[in-house]
Amino acid sequence: MIISKNPYTGEEISSHHELSDTEVEKAIKKAHSRFRSWRETSFAERSNLMMKAAKELKDNSREYAEAITREMGKPITQAVAEVEKCAWVCEYYAEHAESQLENEKIKTDAKNSYVTYEPLGVVLAVMPWNYPFWQVFRFAAPALMAGNIAILKHASNVMLSANNIQKVFEKAGFPQDCFQNLVIGSKKVENIIRNKKVKAVTLTGSGRAGSSVASIAGEEIKKSVLELGGSNALVVFKDANIAESIKTCVQARFQNTGQSCIAGKRLLLHQDIAEDFLDEFTRQVRELKSGDPMDEETFIGVMAKESLAEDLEDQVKASVKKGAKIILGGKRDGTYFEPTIITGAKEGMPVFDEETFGPAISVTEFKNEEEAVDLVNSSSFGLGVSIFTEDEDFALKIVPRFEDGAVFVNELVKSDPRLPFGGTKISGYGRELSHHGIQEFTNRKTVYFN
Ligand code: NAP
Repeated sequence: MIISKNPYTGEEISSHHELSDTEVEKAIKKAHSRFRSWRETSFAERSNLMMKAAKELKDNSREYAEAITREMGKPITQAVAEVEKCAWVCEYYAEHAESQLENEKIKTDAKNSYVTYEPLGVVLAVMPWNYPFWQVFRFAAPALMAGNIAILKHASNVMLSANNIQKVFEKAGFPQDCFQNLVIGSKKVENIIRNKKVKAVTLTGSGRAGSSVASIAGEEIKKSVLELGGSNALVVFKDANIAESIKTCVQARFQNTGQSCIAGKRLLLHQDIAEDFLDEFTRQVRELKSGDPMDEETFIGVMAKESLAEDLEDQVKASVKKGAKIILGGKRDGTYFEPTIITGAKEGMPVFDEETFGPAISVTEFKNEEEAVDLVNSSSFGLGVSIFTEDEDFALKIVPRFEDGAVFVNELVKSDPRLPFGGTKISGYGRELSHHGIQEFTNRKTVYFN
């Protein structure tokens, strides 16, 4: 049995029968056989269904959001926003998939030569609990619109949401087995990747899981996309608009109770503005309202599992042992972790070197541009960086120096269906969203007429 538990109340919400190997095999067979007809459907048909999925999400956003909140402790207003964003990605691909996958004519010696984007077949998605709807929809909407079939292995603590996602596609009228949620634990993933009918795999999650999945896919010579952890820096230069950047940095770190891959986890402040910035930043973080995730007023909920809160506590304690200082918060009560600010962070401390997946931010001061760039790039992660400056020429000059998959200027790093999303270094490879995302799971077939 796979069980969902409310991390705020501790109560069991739902239990799910785990599929046997034979049942998994059967599900893959059905997915594979659905591919034959699904790939023949027109973009107009797929688009019509995807718009219906978007409508289903919008019409019932509250209901889906409540299940998310109960399962993983996300404040309800943020859960509703997540479901609505899923409707957006469905609408985006319903509208743009056809043009994004149009044949690309290339002039050569041939009478006619072009690239055509064809679906691969059954694609496995292994997904995390932190945005239980969004992570899945940002994969599923483009994959289905491209003519692929999606099978999902969701995180074990959000199976109710996983089933709800399958329901969304069923209620929208997608043919049976276009999208299937497989109720399984992670041990069953290997056999699925090795199954001949499964053509590719995408994983959003930890480096440990990503490395395992990519190794198996590598052995099978199958396409993989990895969206892994991050330790994004928020870099505030001395000419920044301090009031605006403080507001943005609070959001960047503390939304979703800090459990986001692209959260700004390392605050890097120019030494001339550090004290003033930190005074006001601390005041605003202290005012964030913690409480019952179902309460509309709550901004900081609980962490999704107690083990995650314990991990964060260990990282903070180990950093303090190495000389860091807690200037706000630092305490844990079960799954609740106080919004926490840690100053004096440097290389060698877990809060600087590792991903901190909860409401804690580390602060480091820098003297000049060189040092700021080195501090950002010293991370093993490479998901994104936010820089804050009023000097656009300076920003343009410094952007190419960062090794990350994204640089946002005067804004927090966020995902947007129109922009590619993905990392470098141990944050993974491949891209989701935009035309880059939809093309990942296609055969870019070269066609040549002599
Ligand atoms: P996780 O433990 O890696 O789990 C993610 C998914 O992988 C779950 O479905 C999990 O299943 C499965 N899994 C775990 N170990 C596996 C293995 N050895 N083989 C196959 N599947 C395996 O990560 P998490 O704690 O749920 O999520 C947090 C992590 O995800 C953070 O590092 C975060 O930064 C990252 N993340 C990245 C992005 C991005 O876009 N780059 C977005 C969100 C989150 P079970 O639940 O059954 O173990």
